Amino acid sequence: MKRFDVAVIGGGIAGASAAFWLSVGLSADRSADRRVVLFEQESELAFHSTSRSAAVYLENYGGPTNHRLSTASRGFFENPPGAVDAPFLEPLGFLDVGPESSADEFAARAAEAAKVTSSICFLDASQIAELCPALRPEHAVVGVWEPDAMAVDVMAVHQFYVREARARGLQIERSSRVESLDRRDDRWKITTSSGELEASVVVNASGAWGDHVASLARAAPVGLTPRRRTAFTTRTHHDTTGWPFVHSGVVGAECYFKPEAGQQLLCSLADETATTPGDARPEELDIALAIDRLNALADLNIRSVATTWAGHRTFAPDRQPVIGWDDEADGFVWMVGQGGAGIVTSPASGMVVASLIGGEELPDPLKNLGLTTEMLGRRG
Ligand SMILES: Cc1cc2nc3c(=O)[nH]c(=O)nc-3n(C[C@H](O)[C@H](O)[C@H](O)COP(=O)(O)OP(=O)(O)OC[C@H]3O[C@@H](n4cnc5c(N)ncnc54)[C@H](O)[C@@H]3O)c2cc1C
Repeated sequence: MKRFDVAVIGGGIAGASAAFWLSVGLSADRSADRRVVLFEQESELAFHSTSRSAAVYLENYGGPTNHRLSTASRGFFENPPGAVDAPFLEPLGFLDVGPESSADEFAARAAEAAKVTSSICFLDASQIAELCPALRPEHAVVGVWEPDAMAVDVMAVHQFYVREARARGLQIERSSRVESLDRRDDRWKITTSSGELEASVVVNASGAWGDHVASLARAAPVGLTPRRRTAFTTRTHHDTTGWPFVHSGVVGAECYFKPEAGQQLLCSLADETATTPGDARPEELDIALAIDRLNALADLNIRSVATTWAGHRTFAPDRQPVIGWDDEADGFVWMVGQGGAGIVTSPASGMVVASLIGGEELPDPLKNLGLTTEMLGRRG
């Protein structure tokens, strides 16, 4: 039976980043010398959440652990460790807006976020109007502004991980659903829909399916919930040059829009409907509600949509990522619960997985931001 050092389950951005760092290694000489295999149940990689995101790189998102993982990932996005055809990031900016009643909360949030990312600041109504004149003043009185948030080319990042890892021997098994995991003699016997092989360590990067894959290894679930989020694109009459990504988190009015090339807006209801793992599909009602909310938030005059889709954002109960060894199942590493930050945190998360499996300390850029293996691993 073919034998590997590490088997990664899941061909989304999480699995690809783990496979990348495991294959190329964390040291500057890039010599991991590991045999790594990656399984993906679909016929193509990145079929689920990874290809359905809003493609935004922002640091201040998803709680303190994700914030630090995203900040630690910026260096990778700005200076990828290998050749690329075009930059991964393009300037964008992220503006969270709210009414007058949110002023105290927004000021506190901006001050807290600035401790990690110093450019984040509080904005008043006139500053907001300069950034996006289409916003209706009554809904955009105060804001938290992250000027260095960027648009990210998600598929280019994913392809980079895969290409560089394959160049160092990564084996990719598409249309291979992992169906059983049996631990014997310090090795996993892995049975998939396309065959069997062995690996010393398994990395569970299976997104919405994370608890199901854990059950195959007889590891206790962490309590993951996939939450559907609907998105669509629409054409706008505005010249959106220089507009930032605009988000409203006001309860009952949640929505966002992002300017894209060709006078398009990428829009969402910012919904979080609890669901089960599978191929997420958009609901017409969610799109209609999003259009209502967006037209109320700004003078966008949205009447029709161009394309629609939905994807899962999968959360642990405390909404922080779970990246670490399982306490009970020997040789089983979790890499799940990325929620709405799986793209932006992927470089640092993959580094965490590679350092754990290599028996190394967390890399300095992560430690320096206060990240610890205890914060990242299984909790409770
Ligand atoms: C509308 C929307 C907007 C978003 N916007 C952003 C954003 O702007 N920035 C950001 O950082 N994040 C964003 N996200 C979140 C981001 O998309 C996810 O956090 C990320 O894609 C999760 O990656 P993943 O690899 O864990 O999951 P996935 O991409 O879902 O990959 C998991 C893979 O595991 C495979 N798998 C499962 N079980 C098995 C098995 N038994 N055997 C083999 N393979 C298996 C699945 O087929 C799947 O391909 C957004 C998400 C949505 C839905």
